[in-house]
Amino acid sequence: MKRSNRIFIYLSLIILLSLSLISGSSKFSVGKLATSNNDSVEKRLISFAQNNNKVMDHLYHLTDRIAARPSGSKNLQAACEWARDKFVEFGLSNVHWERLTIVPANAANYNNSVPLYNVIADIPGSEKPDEYVIVGAHIDSDDTGTGAADNGTGVAAAMEAARILAKADAKPKRTIRFILFSAEEIGKLGSKAYVDAHADIMPRVSAMLNMDQGSNYISGIYATNGLMEHFERVFAPVKSLDPDMPFTIEKVEYLSQNMKNCCGGRGSSDHGPFFEAGVPAFFWLQEGKNPVPYPAHTKEDTYDKVNAEYLKHSSTVIALGAYGIANLNHLLSRENIFEKEITSNDDIDPCSQSKTEADCCSKQKSTECCVKK
Ligand SMILES: [Zn+2]
Repeated sequence: MKRSNRIFIYLSLIILLSLSLISGSSKFSVGKLATSNNDSVEKRLISFAQNNNKVMDHLYHLTDRIAARPSGSKNLQAACEWARDKFVEFGLSNVHWERLTIVPANAANYNNSVPLYNVIADIPGSEKPDEYVIVGAHIDSDDTGTGAADNGTGVAAAMEAARILAKADAKPKRTIRFILFSAEEIGKLGSKAYVDAHADIMPRVSAMLNMDQGSNYISGIYATNGLMEHFERVFAPVKSLDPDMPFTIEKVEYLSQNMKNCCGGRGSSDHGPFFEAGVPAFFWLQEGKNPVPYPAHTKEDTYDKVNAEYLKHSSTVIALGAYGIANLNHLLSRENIFEKEITSNDDIDPCSQSKTEADCCSKQKSTECCVKK
């Protein structure tokens, strides 16, 4: 073999070897990158949530700039416009509002000259954009205070979850849809209207996560046997957030179990209509130092009563929980949503199940039935 040929063969071998090493290492890098990208979304999200959390800014605007937001008031309309604009500013998709067209003429405290809206915004799913995790909270209030605990906290936490997810460049497999409902206080009209108008998507809603229990921190979620394993995985990052605000996955035989008790039942807030439509719907459990039901539905329900650390934490839990559920390989199990003897047409008042209001509140640590009498 001529020397020049030998050199040519050696050079070719070296080039081939290098190419295979590069392609091998690039495959390896892609694999590593995919994993570390997933990790870093959660890490980035927690970092934004802890170091630059805006939840109290959102709450301040709602309560001290806009103030009380009864259904049919100009304030509620202003709040919906503001929230819609903020979702656009955060970079969410499909931002719009949907007008509620059917409002009972006898709905209490309702001025029908001002239209009512649900505000909607999406973080689109990267693999299954037509499957959803819905994050909900009601943006209306009564007219006694400025609607801070009830339910400025739920709205501000949902909005901050949306902001930090977008900022962390989260690309969940399924769409995370944020809905701020109007007219909850006069009969859950916003959530009922949404479920009626979008009955076709309900089988594709993996979970509905509703916050409406005031300013204590989110401390847990109910789970049936079939959900336990998945929730252990989804909420693992939540459990290590802050030892002073622990998170418990509370096992129940049926998701409807909380209908039997007061509060947290399907009758009490906007998760109710989703539950009725067969969606695994959840009312975040909340705990903390704030007395319940005070100050919801009193003139004391103002910004200064809300614990900032609790609310920052709750916004982080919502973001991590929604992201984790949206990234599962499957929709959440619909098994054991209802107890067999309860039909979906039953309209159980969870408060009527408790002997006294005090009994109800102390058992369930919740505001809802305690304040809505
Ligand atoms: Zn409420």
